[in-house]
Amino acid sequence: MGSRKVTSSEPLDWQGKHVTVAGLGVSGIPAAKVLHARGANVTVVNDGDDARAREQAAELEALGITVRLGDGATLPEGTELVVTAPGWKPDKPLFTAAREAGLEIWGDVELAWRLRGPDAAPWLAITGTNGKTTTTQMLASILKAAGLRTAAVGNIGVSLLDAVLGDEQYDVLAVELSSYQLHWAPSLRAHSAAVLNLAPDHLDWHGSMEAYAADKGRVYEGNRVACVYNVADKATEDLVREADVEEGCRAVGFTLGTPGPSQLGVVEGILVDRAFVEDRHKNAQELAEISDVNPPAPHNIANALAAAALARAFGVPARAVRDGLRDFTPDAHRIAHVADVEAVAYVDDSKATNTHAAEASLAAYESIVWIAGGLAKGAAFDELVAKSAKRLRGVVLIGQDRALIREALARHAPEVPVVDLDRTDTGAMLAAVQEASRLAVAGDTVLLAPACASMDMFANYNKRGDAFAEAVRELGS
Ligand code: ADP
Repeated sequence: MGSRKVTSSEPLDWQGKHVTVAGLGVSGIPAAKVLHARGANVTVVNDGDDARAREQAAELEALGITVRLGDGATLPEGTELVVTAPGWKPDKPLFTAAREAGLEIWGDVELAWRLRGPDAAPWLAITGTNGKTTTTQMLASILKAAGLRTAAVGNIGVSLLDAVLGDEQYDVLAVELSSYQLHWAPSLRAHSAAVLNLAPDHLDWHGSMEAYAADKGRVYEGNRVACVYNVADKATEDLVREADVEEGCRAVGFTLGTPGPSQLGVVEGILVDRAFVEDRHKNAQELAEISDVNPPAPHNIANALAAAALARAFGVPARAVRDGLRDFTPDAHRIAHVADVEAVAYVDDSKATNTHAAEASLAAYESIVWIAGGLAKGAAFDELVAKSAKRLRGVVLIGQDRALIREALARHAPEVPVVDLDRTDTGAMLAAVQEASRLAVAGDTVLLAPACASMDMFANYNKRGDAFAEAVRELGS
């Protein structure tokens, strides 16, 4: 870790400034309105030109904002700053033109960071390939238990712009950040930050694993108190080492094993802190029991430790960590226990939309009938199947790309029975659950952890999980 002094917020005179907002949408519309209200001369550009875009455009135009529909590629004449929706790919011609003109490009997070007031609440930031939402919510719950005014913001819940500009006063914010948002947030400086894990994801957008990792690593830039990394994932520690942070900022690891000095970890079923204690070479502070974590699956204990590390970096007492973890209930479709039917547990982890998430999920149970498949998004399944093979009682495959998983199973788990459901209609989930129930024996877990996106069969992963729960209910009735 290098160190340097960082600047705080930079108030800008927006009067008459020509700002191009790229993308009409959840971040573009509020950005355009806020900048317009501050006196900027705003033009919104958007690729699409459908009925909805026209409606949104009309609303903005009524305020005096210029909107160009059907042309998100050309940089409007006279642009001095580009504010983009985070999902826009960096290789778009609009950005090439902006860079050639020497312009800054800000995403929604950068905009919120720059517009926050001088007394704004510090940010505790969380990124990683999986576990972001859960960890951010756990953190907010811990901070609340400590009596702090806070909210889980960013990719979830309240938008960052609302959080920094709204009337609500906060002491600290728990901020979930995606790799896209970090890419477009060059001057963000969090109080402390965590990268939970790093596995290949969104590589088509970032261009390479190195570029993806580098964007995740931006979350550590300029941290003041702690850079929290995953001891089991060396790539996260490497990012800490490469980061430029403030003088005195510490690297703090979390581990499911016994923690060393400057780490949080687990000793005999207890979550302990050996980082934020007096004399960390000799002392450890008990924070909570594993049973306080909901659900107590290994990857989720890691999430709890990361959340605890950030909270402790902010000075939260041990008691609040325990209370906050106890108060926390995970969002739907994340290892949600649906029901026990004939001594078999049915668990909905529809949110496991990539192989890394599914691997964590499968690692949480001893004997599993696994329901998997959907849209693979270019993923390979060999590693996942090889690592999980010994836990599989059987597998039921659904969805468009199920052949990829079937082939991996044939290579690495040839003895595991596989039911290949050749259907993608909505009733297929009921059939899948029925097949799974036939394969399961008492004590097993039937686990929906598809390792794939859902859009071939369902509107989204929520609907997929709902269909699973419905099918389980039918089974039990
Ligand atoms: P994100 O916001 O990063 O998508 P979520 O908290 O919504 O993460 O969890 C998404 C899925 O990722 C969960 O359903 C679970 O299967 C998996 N997951 C959660 N935490 C972890 C972790 N620490 N490591 C690996 N997988 C995880």
